[in-house]
Amino acid sequence: MARKPLIAGNWKMHGVLVDACQLAAGLKAHCRGLDDRDVLVAPPFTVISEVSHILRDTAIILAGQNVCWEGKGAFTGEISPVMLRDAGASAALIGHSERRQLFGESDSLVNRRLKGALQFGLTAILCIGETLEEREANRTLDVLERQLRAGLADVGGAQMSSVVVAYEPVWAIGTGKTATSAQAQEAHAFIRHVLADLFEKDIADQVRIVYGGSVKPTNIDELMAQPDIDGALVGGAALDVESFGRIIHFA
Ligand code: PGA
Repeated sequence: MARKPLIAGNWKMHGVLVDACQLAAGLKAHCRGLDDRDVLVAPPFTVISEVSHILRDTAIILAGQNVCWEGKGAFTGEISPVMLRDAGASAALIGHSERRQLFGESDSLVNRRLKGALQFGLTAILCIGETLEEREANRTLDVLERQLRAGLADVGGAQMSSVVVAYEPVWAIGTGKTATSAQAQEAHAFIRHVLADLFEKDIADQVRIVYGGSVKPTNIDELMAQPDIDGALVGGAALDVESFGRIIHFA
């Protein structure tokens, strides 16, 4: 079965309501009639609800940038999967490198969040990737394997239809340095190989693996031409409606 491409925009901590509404309205115009690919955006929590109103008659998927594992409770500062769904989101980014690096999120915390997201019916976008230091020490594949196995611990094969893996080399995020398409393909093929070992080949063949890290209109076509790259997770360029529009319309 062919994997449907997924182009995702991560707005990070950018945009107050007026900016988010403008961006969403612009995006809507770019996505009309596109049904051979999925488009997703992850706005800040505070604007998801409003963005969901603007996008309500489109197929654009909304995601939280993180999610707690519990439906409710004494978890000050967290957003639950139930709240995300209530605001109009159906997916969540989990384990983004900024969460891991700046907020100390561990592999086991990432796994907890991922299982919670799945339990409450969200699509989980599990982000993994090596730092520059790890790449230079030739540890890229070890790091990816560790993050994958730990992030997906206790997840069943049947649940993998609700999981997307995002490969985001930390050294390529927001730096303007994209992994070459060959470097990205190598990592993606390896990720699929680990998934086949964890589950079954058929399941691994159906999981979408998207690339993130300085994706731009000028490099999307080459990335998407790689056999194991099924889409992109876009940060900076997702804040500019023209750039994101061009990325969505990759060849
Ligand atoms: P970038 O961010 O496109 O700005 O490099 C990607 C991401 O962090 O998801």
